[in-house]
Amino acid sequence: MPGPIDSASVTILGLGSMGGALAKALLRGGVKLTVWNRTPARAHALAHDGAVVASSVFEAVQLSDLTIICMIDKAASEAALLGADIPGLSGRTIVDLSTGDAEVALRIASYVEGRHGFYLNGGIMCYPKDIGKPKTVILYAGKRDAFIAHENTLSILAGSQKYLGENPRTAVLAYLALYAFYFGALASYFEGAALARAGNVDPGQFKDLSAIMVDMLTDGIATATDRIVRSDYFGDQASVDVHVSGQEIVRDACATHGTPHAATDAFLSYCKLAQDAGDGEKDIASIFLPMTPGGR
Ligand code: NDP
Repeated sequence: MPGPIDSASVTILGLGSMGGALAKALLRGGVKLTVWNRTPARAHALAHDGAVVASSVFEAVQLSDLTIICMIDKAASEAALLGADIPGLSGRTIVDLSTGDAEVALRIASYVEGRHGFYLNGGIMCYPKDIGKPKTVILYAGKRDAFIAHENTLSILAGSQKYLGENPRTAVLAYLALYAFYFGALASYFEGAALARAGNVDPGQFKDLSAIMVDMLTDGIATATDRIVRSDYFGDQASVDVHVSGQEIVRDACATHGTPHAATDAFLSYCKLAQDAGDGEKDIASIFLPMTPGGR
């Protein structure tokens, strides 16, 4: 259960699928809410639920001590905020949850802090349906005092929120990295499901069977990370060369059955980098080395 609401009032700028879910969760949580959206109809729809509709970004930001931006990307956040030409943001916290580039986040931070406000960058680690649930995570980085000041209010949105430190870049890159992992894994899952279907394993059956690999992936991540931390790439389980020979067979099976193999090709290309670096006999964790600048 979140603690008592610690923001006098909250504004949300951007009421698409995600911004709308954030707004509804805050209203359910008893927060005094102001909303603004470029297309006003989306804001007016929330007035029935008790939200105050602002007629401009300028007005919306003035009405709350905490403003949450959730637009299509950080370029839109930046344009909306800077375009409002707000002379001072003293005592106000701006939280940007839009996906975007770290450099844009730093520019927005500098703009907000230049007007004596506080900036937090956030990354939402779920789909809108999971906003407001106890296990939901939003990653934050930026002004620690501002996070602490609004922690209870923000926890209405994500019961398992995480604060990663003062540098906004941290939350941006952690967020982008986690989605690179998630969607790469999802693409591989569909690639596997398509090959399995060619063998008459239907998607429901494949989903049940995939639990085997989800467990193996959890263990594989832990084992590989432990090796990376200890710089121990001794190939006593399965070398890079062994993985290449196995995954070339997977790729060829996909080709034979007319199913795509871009994710398998990507894995093989990382293995090839390790082989080219002379690591063919080492553990599969060694494919991480050529991926990281100065990783060797
Ligand atoms: P939507 O496409 O549903 O909504 C986009 C929102 O951005 C709308 O409110 C839109 O306004 C607004 N917008 C777009 N361009 C501008 C602009 N130039 N100026 C002002 N407002 C603008 O996207 P979502 O709500 O799904 O996503 C919002 C953010 O949340 C994105 O950065 C997304 O990556 C992130 N996110 C979304 C997740 C999801 O599952 N949906 C998961 C995790 C993160 P208008 O209504 O006028 O078009």
